[in-house]
Amino acid sequence: MSLYRDEGVVLRTQKLGEADRIVTILARRTGKIRAVAKGVRRTTSRFGARLEPFTHVDLQLHTGRTLDVVTQAETIRPYGEALAADYPRYTAGTAMLETADRLTHGEKEPALRQFLLLVGGLRTLADRDHEARLVLDAYFLRSLAVAGYAPALEACAKCQAPAIRAFAIVAGGVVCGACKPAGAAVPAGETIGLMTALLRGDWATADASEQRHRSECSGLVAAYLQWHLEHGIRSLRHVEREPV
Ligand SMILES: [Zn+2]
Repeated sequence: MSLYRDEGVVLRTQKLGEADRIVTILARRTGKIRAVAKGVRRTTSRFGARLEPFTHVDLQLHTGRTLDVVTQAETIRPYGEALAADYPRYTAGTAMLETADRLTHGEKEPALRQFLLLVGGLRTLADRDHEARLVLDAYFLRSLAVAGYAPALEACAKCQAPAIRAFAIVAGGVVCGACKPAGAAVPAGETIGLMTALLRGDWATADASEQRHRSECSGLVAAYLQWHLEHGIRSLRHVEREPV
């Protein structure tokens, strides 16, 4: 058996037998790991709550024939505690964990940029400096970009014309009048500006945006994300929407 160390964020857990859990972790160097945490459901577990979703942990594991086994876990930062008391932040965080899981496909395929985005997103959410929905939309846009699905926001996704008329999910972003498919959304210019600011991490612009543009942005980003993932992100349903 070989031992290895890594740090990661716990994405989800599932029960295994009487007392164990399978823990899915997005780790800095290794990528996504599914590992067994033995005895974790006993009250006397030496892991305590360190292997719960949202926790950023330092881990030691040993390689198993099918699943690796967690042998040590030390908390780096328990984001779950900061988010649990605030429902909009908690649901936004849950949607982040699910998206990170869905956008990292294979196990043990390094996904450093997705790991860094997830840790940065959870930290920003827990620090409460920006509205939860803006933090979530910024995370969605950037994680999609890292996965190769950045939406076109500055020129027509089809013909590169600079005059923007609509946002067409299937075309891959903004489109000009000539390329606009029937039924494409026609958002305000400020909404596209907000999406650009969130993608770039321009918080001064994002924080100054109006509520109606945030709502429009959230709707477009959610639809764009879901289209790219093919199936809906389940936890998005629980994210509170601002009234339009
Ligand atoms: Zn065009």
